[in-house]
Amino acid sequence: MTRKLISSLPPVSNRLSGAPSAKPPTSAPPPDEPVDSLGALQSFVDPSELSVVFQPIVSFEGRELYAYEALVRCSVPEYRSPPALFDRAVDRGCTGRLGRMIREIGVPFGSGMPLFVNIHPRELSEGWLIRPDDPVFGHDDDVFLEITESVPLSHSDQCRGVLKEVCTRGGVFLVVDDLGAGYSNLKHIVDLEPAIVKLDRALIAGIDQNARQCELVSAVVELCTRLGAKVVAEGIETAAEYRTVVETGAHYGQGYLFARPAFPPPLVRWPDQSEDEKTTEPPPTTERSN
Ligand code: C2E
Ligand code: MG
Ligand code: MG
Repeated sequence: MTRKLISSLPPVSNRLSGAPSAKPPTSAPPPDEPVDSLGALQSFVDPSELSVVFQPIVSFEGRELYAYEALVRCSVPEYRSPPALFDRAVDRGCTGRLGRMIREIGVPFGSGMPLFVNIHPRELSEGWLIRPDDPVFGHDDDVFLEITESVPLSHSDQCRGVLKEVCTRGGVFLVVDDLGAGYSNLKHIVDLEPAIVKLDRALIAGIDQNARQCELVSAVVELCTRLGAKVVAEGIETAAEYRTVVETGAHYGQGYLFARPAFPPPLVRWPDQSEDEKTTEPPPTTERSN
């Protein structure tokens, strides 16, 4: 895994320019796709309504930017929440197409930086991610595929097979996302052998005020480390949470304290030692999608 300092990218549009042009030759469907996935997707969202924002992931050791996570945004009110957008895509059988489209929008803007990209578990059974022309395989730095723990990983064997295959291609690593939320299954850390585990905000919020929670997180960090995974603490909102999370041994952090998701990829705001730590409210929203 590489680690480098990253500067902000130029402020150019992160949208696809419109539905017809959102179908370049590279995104022809896999040969065995059972539905017209582009038609299914366009039945509830136009590709021009999708954009991607980026949130920094910081390294505690060097107090430096480590990577960015790409997060989809949809301008249709009903689908402002990414999970709502993906729920509809699951209903319509076009999750793989949606994921591919998001990667086509977002990955080019992550050029020159390690990039974390969310993959919905359902995408793994739709044949899109293994296509060699997927944007993640052309990325010029490491790519971390985040598989959420918050929805069940059905067809586990098939999913595992796809993920392992994808991660043999070089520069692509697996992340178990949202550990500690929803359908968390510790065994995924054993089975999937992730490079990184992300601890859900449910484990991080208020950690500075709860010694037992802090013990739990420390133990989970130690377990992950012993299993060969680095740990990202998600959803750090206050400087007090940040200080406590560092004490647990977690390697990386992410949260509104450092920067909200935004486009262009935002710079990191480190808590000022002297201001230690009156930050109880997250900084004002800077998120916008061009
Ligand atoms: P996630 O992958 O765990 O992403 C982190 C979520 O927490 C993001 O919400 C982010 O905006 C939010 N967040 C970051 N820092 C903080 C913080 O300090 N406090 C709080 N309260 N929240 C924070 P978002 O963007 O609404 O995404 C929600 C979930 O939707 C994601 O959770 C991910 O599971 C899914 N998602 C988002 N974008 C994509 C995508 O492009 N593809 C797929 N498959 N899923 C996505
Ligand atoms: Mg994620
Ligand atoms: Mg998460």
